[in-house]
Amino acid sequence: QDLKSIGLKATTPRLKILELFQRGSQRHMTAEDVYRQLMSEGIDVGLARKILEKQASGTSITQEWLDLNKTPDGMQEGVKKIIGSLEDSLETFASTTRTARDAVTTYNSEIKKQVSRATSLDADSALSALGILAREMVSRTEIFAAEMKRSEDEAQALRRELDKARHDAEIDHLTGLPNRRAFEAALDRHYREARQEADHLCVAFCDIDHFKRVNDTHGHDTGDRVIKAIGEALARISDDTCHVARHGGEEFVMLFRGKTTQEAWEKLDAVRENFGSRQFVNRANDNPIGKITFSGGIADVFAHKNPRDALKAADEALYEAKSGGRNQIVLSSPVTTRSHRG
Ligand code: GH3
Ligand code: MG
Ligand code: MG
Repeated sequence: QDLKSIGLKATTPRLKILELFQRGSQRHMTAEDVYRQLMSEGIDVGLARKILEKQASGTSITQEWLDLNKTPDGMQEGVKKIIGSLEDSLETFASTTRTARDAVTTYNSEIKKQVSRATSLDADSALSALGILAREMVSRTEIFAAEMKRSEDEAQALRRELDKARHDAEIDHLTGLPNRRAFEAALDRHYREARQEADHLCVAFCDIDHFKRVNDTHGHDTGDRVIKAIGEALARISDDTCHVARHGGEEFVMLFRGKTTQEAWEKLDAVRENFGSRQFVNRANDNPIGKITFSGGIADVFAHKNPRDALKAADEALYEAKSGGRNQIVLSSPVTTRSHRG
């Protein structure tokens, strides 16, 4: 039984899992059948396994429990699967093209044979034989051309889907900024390059101050617009040497290449000061929101064992900025000596 045959309507993987288990048990599918089905659908298998264990223990599965047990990479598995199947399709297309080319080659040599046979006939018969061949050739090439065009269109559509899937896997929908996954890839790349070139590299975390209040007072949609506004303000200093990404929630992560922590601090602090001086208005009802500030923490990547530890240090500096009164950018300390090895 596939998802369609049991009438699955759910859209998100988690809802799918929940619905699949409910319907599966109505139709006396074994837990193992359901589990296998989930795997074939590319759905969060780690979570499916936890659900199985939970079912076996006889307790019920709630949305809250599902949220708690969500595998962070669950969605990414789905994307990986799409990319995999699209790549398979492209492969199939390439082999179709090869087959078509082989057919044309065979057909050409057949024509050559016929042509040489025709020239040995008398003029009239030769002419009519060639005419028949020519007509057939025209109609066959038309069919080939139409088939090739269709395959080409299909391949193009697939390529677009593939690009979109890749893009979606790396972009945060609300802000349009790179997401955490894309940031981590960029940080790895800059870390390798900067280490080789003995270049500066720092990372920063930014977090909106008292953001819960904005949500509570003005609603989640307004909160979303504030997140977008901060994303835009940070993106304005983004260039080849400075990358900004949404780390999640109301938190942003940045990297500064070729800048000392002091220089990075100056850049980020200028954004903080400028942003904090703006007066916000709730677009939905024109109610004043007032000023919104954010805090930040910066760390020198090469003062730490690896980029992960540097991120942790930047996060700790952010925590210091929060406890120091918010609306400020704190440099991680102590800044130890830079080490450029490897
Ligand atoms: P602090 O100054 O200590 O950072 O206080 P805070 O209120 O900003 O921090 P806290 O972590 O308590 O609250 C963050 C809030 O952000 C809670 C959560 O509901 C909200 N949030 C997270 N992601 C989003 C989102 O995508 N949109 C909206 N509107 N709110 C979000
Ligand atoms: Mg936060
Ligand atoms: Mg906050």
